[in-house]
Amino acid sequence: MKLTIFSRLLTGYLIIFTLVIGMSIYVIIHIIQINEVAQSILTINNRMIDSATKLSDIIFSQVRYERKFIISKDKAFYREFLQLKSDFDRYLSEMTSIAESSQTRSYLNNIRESYQNYQSLVYEEFKYLKNGDGYAHLEFNREKEKATNSIIEELGKLETNTRQNTTDKIKRLHEIGTELRRMAMVMTGAFLIFGIVISLFINRSITQPLSLLEKKTREIGKGNFKEDLNLSSPPELAELAGAFNLMCNKLKELDKMKSDFFSSIAHELRTPLSTIKMGTSLLKEGIEGPITEGQRGLLAVLEKEINRLIGMLNSLLDLSKMEAGMMSFNLEPQNIRPLIDQTIEEIGPLAEAKKINLEVIVTEVLPIIKIDSERILQALRNIIGNAMKFTPEKGRVKISVRSVDHGVEVSVADTGPGIPAESLITIFEKFQQATTGGSSPIKGTGLGLAIAKEIITHHGGKIWAESEPGHGSTFIFVLPA
Ligand code: ADP
Repeated sequence: MKLTIFSRLLTGYLIIFTLVIGMSIYVIIHIIQINEVAQSILTINNRMIDSATKLSDIIFSQVRYERKFIISKDKAFYREFLQLKSDFDRYLSEMTSIAESSQTRSYLNNIRESYQNYQSLVYEEFKYLKNGDGYAHLEFNREKEKATNSIIEELGKLETNTRQNTTDKIKRLHEIGTELRRMAMVMTGAFLIFGIVISLFINRSITQPLSLLEKKTREIGKGNFKEDLNLSSPPELAELAGAFNLMCNKLKELDKMKSDFFSSIAHELRTPLSTIKMGTSLLKEGIEGPITEGQRGLLAVLEKEINRLIGMLNSLLDLSKMEAGMMSFNLEPQNIRPLIDQTIEEIGPLAEAKKINLEVIVTEVLPIIKIDSERILQALRNIIGNAMKFTPEKGRVKISVRSVDHGVEVSVADTGPGIPAESLITIFEKFQQATTGGSSPIKGTGLGLAIAKEIITHHGGKIWAESEPGHGSTFIFVLPA
């Protein structure tokens, strides 16, 4: 997905925002439903039951007034009767207007019909009374009673039906409430998981390329200038990766230029230096004529310095060759022990001169490993030579060799000044010397450890240093079996 960081974040937030809005709409719809059902219980069902009770009261009262009027012929009762009729009609039409179901409407129709029937019976009877005609009194009473009974019966049915409807609505309220609670819980859980997944995905898609970039920057710090950072998205980081690769390319070119320059200088210097060395040696030996003691001493100093320069140039050329992959390694299966012994023999006189306690511990039977003895000797000379160089007089150097998981581990510990933590890695780079904080640096080229590292790495091994400044340092390397 080639979205920019901004669009990624925006998309993520929009998705979460939309989900939250969706959930809110769902909850609001259900709350409206609950509200509507509750409102209908209050305004329809309760009113319907109230009105039904009133209608039955009215009908009983009307029957009473009608009877009183028939007996007393008092017009006041007739007026009451009429007043109640208009009340009855009002309530009935009100009930019809709020009736929800066809069943309720049919009850109300039945009531209306029976009531009209009752009214016409009463008016007819009143007419007979007014005219003073005789009429079937009992017959009328029976018909009126039938009509009023039918009204009361229908009102009863209507009430039962409305109560049942109220119960159903309360059940529905409960159902909506339960469903809302369940859905709210499910949705909250799902959105939470969804939100976390989206955030993780977005964060990962941004932090992963960033951590790649950070890893690559570290590698550059270690001198690996391979321009292979491949980031296709997000576009901002892809652009950065492009610029980064360009920088790596430039650094690589510069590094190569520097190496080429050093090796050609070293090469050019070696021949004249060898000639000077030979000349100095001939002069010192008096082959070109007798020389004084003073001249001999001077020539000895010159010879020593020339040897040091030649050693340094050789190291420089060796390192350049190894770095360019042009140094051939002659790997043969063998025990490393004789090489350790040979190095110790070589540095023996120096240890004696500095009264250094040289301890060698080879604990177990060592496995046979594939090594180039000349190169490993070179690495051992550099590492053990450093230990001797940095350890003060009467100090201690301990060389331990042991077999480890699939290989051999050699460690060289000394009681020298130690190495500050920030230099523990850089000292393996060429021309790098540790910051010893104040004390005057010991003469060196800064090439020995770089060569040792190239040799050990070429054997498929690992080399590192451990140190606590003031408490000596330990150089450890592991060669695979
Ligand atoms: P050189 O010794 O010629 O300067 P090296 O590559 O052998 O070059 O060592 C690099 C640096 O590492 C040294 O200059 C020194 O600061 C540090 N170093 C190496 N070995 C030791 C040691 N045994 N004790 C303290 N510092 C050491």
